Amino acid sequence: MKLFLIPYIIVILLAIIITVEYFYESGYSMISNNSSNYYYVKAYDYQWPVIGYNTITSEFGNRQAPTKGSSTYHTGIDIAAPSGANIVSSIKGYISFVGFSGAGGHTIKVKKDNIEVIYCHVDSAYYPFLGKYVDQGEVIGRVGPKNIYDVTNNPYKDSKGNPTNGATTGSHLHFSIKINNSFVNPLNIMND
Ligand SMILES: [Zn+2]
Repeated sequence: MKLFLIPYIIVILLAIIITVEYFYESGYSMISNNSSNYYYVKAYDYQWPVIGYNTITSEFGNRQAPTKGSSTYHTGIDIAAPSGANIVSSIKGYISFVGFSGAGGHTIKVKKDNIEVIYCHVDSAYYPFLGKYVDQGEVIGRVGPKNIYDVTNNPYKDSKGNPTNGATTGSHLHFSIKINNSFVNPLNIMND
């Protein structure tokens, strides 16, 4: 090995170390949804979706199904919020889906690159336009009522037999984040 290369190698190694330090110190956090996949996500890339409502009634992950038809593996968090509360977009992106989505009830999805943010049990009277570009923090919809009457053959019903906005026991926002098509715990990557 040629000795004159040594200073160049030292400079390159220093550059790598400084770059790695920069990423750690500039607000990037390492998150993972399983042990083999790591992504770098900036915490401040996500906006809390219902401003002023911070009570989480059901956390991400394994749980007992709170109502018939709801999942035992909870793909997001449930945030207590009354019907009519504004929902703001967590990210800058575009509306990739609006519609009734099974247990999620009336649902809005916002997409950007490999990130998809999902809002369930919303009010279908305030659906945004499909394909619309939205800013982070822009109002995209409203929390929906518990009971809905605009879905034919809706299999979800409450104890009185009235049709419900998906599998739900009351008005709330179900909020999910998918990265590279896998659900991640929103609380692990958000700065609320
Ligand atoms: Zn939920």
